[in-house]
Amino acid sequence: MSKHVSVYCSETATLNEDVFAKVCKEESIEHDRTVAMLPYGAANVIGSESRWYYFDRALASDSLFALDDSLRPVTEAGNPYSGLRRTRIFSFGSCNMACPYCKRDCQFCDAHGRPIVAVDVPISDLFLLAETAVERTEIVRFSGGDPVMYARQCLAIAKYLWHVHHTKVSVAHNGSAPSWIERMLPYLDSVAVDVKATPDKAGRIMGLSQRAGAHFISRSIESIRTCCEHENDVLVDVRTPLFGDTTLEDLVWIGEQIFHTHSRKLFWTIRLYSPAPHCDFTQPSLKNAIEMIRSLSEIIPNAWIGVRGRWHNSPMLFIKNGRILNDDAQHLDDVPTSGNRL
Ligand code: SF4
Repeated sequence: MSKHVSVYCSETATLNEDVFAKVCKEESIEHDRTVAMLPYGAANVIGSESRWYYFDRALASDSLFALDDSLRPVTEAGNPYSGLRRTRIFSFGSCNMACPYCKRDCQFCDAHGRPIVAVDVPISDLFLLAETAVERTEIVRFSGGDPVMYARQCLAIAKYLWHVHHTKVSVAHNGSAPSWIERMLPYLDSVAVDVKATPDKAGRIMGLSQRAGAHFISRSIESIRTCCEHENDVLVDVRTPLFGDTTLEDLVWIGEQIFHTHSRKLFWTIRLYSPAPHCDFTQPSLKNAIEMIRSLSEIIPNAWIGVRGRWHNSPMLFIKNGRILNDDAQHLDDVPTSGNRL
């Protein structure tokens, strides 16, 4: 590991060596193997990123998405994240897609378009990072890149946390591996799955052939259905990027695929594309995008939809049954451009 990179582990976090050995054996992981991870922030610390379960505000008292249009109030005036659960982000440093707005020359880019170079981290450090998250009452969230590139390692950490602490994890996944998601399901609290576009547009957006793009969209939809049909109440956050040429018909098609059933487990996050270096995708107008999503919401009643102007520190606009439900809308005008890892 580079001497400038460290892992966000607390000094008091300790590994249960017996369970560590057991889950590594079950998943055929050698203890001395490393995993490529993306450092975070100016200090280059692996795992120093945390995010909120923003969709918590749409949950009813039974921990499924509310049937009515009421949002949970924030618990601290002026703080839109207060009262929400917090996740600790495990950002894996590779992906099986090649979305041009995210990657350039096989590198990931930060919010300013600068490449981030993945570094090798010992697998035991990731277990300690997970222990640190538990210590801080945070939910471990496997993200990336894409965690499917380290499918066995994620499963091993998830099993470890379940056996040692009886806590579940979260996954942010591009949807390409429904069979992996199925294996993860007993250990999942929530999952985010990308449906990036309609089958005819997906290939271009993911940096793949049209045929491959269409194939992966069908896998994303299969992943979502697998989660929704599972007996455990796993919350599913579907993520769709919105470009300048995304149409209402495109969104209705996606909505009809995902909201045909089990809508109480589903939240749909739509994020507006921001210009990325060397990428000729068009940026949507904020006003048009919100109007389009309101129309979408009237066509797909009862669907919880969140609109986000960018990935980080952007307020979430909650829309349901054609209505904007929170008054953070005006802040979306402030949204700067960048941060497209969708
Ligand atoms: S946007 Fe997501 S799926 Fe696409 S290359 Fe980046 S990490 Fe992979």
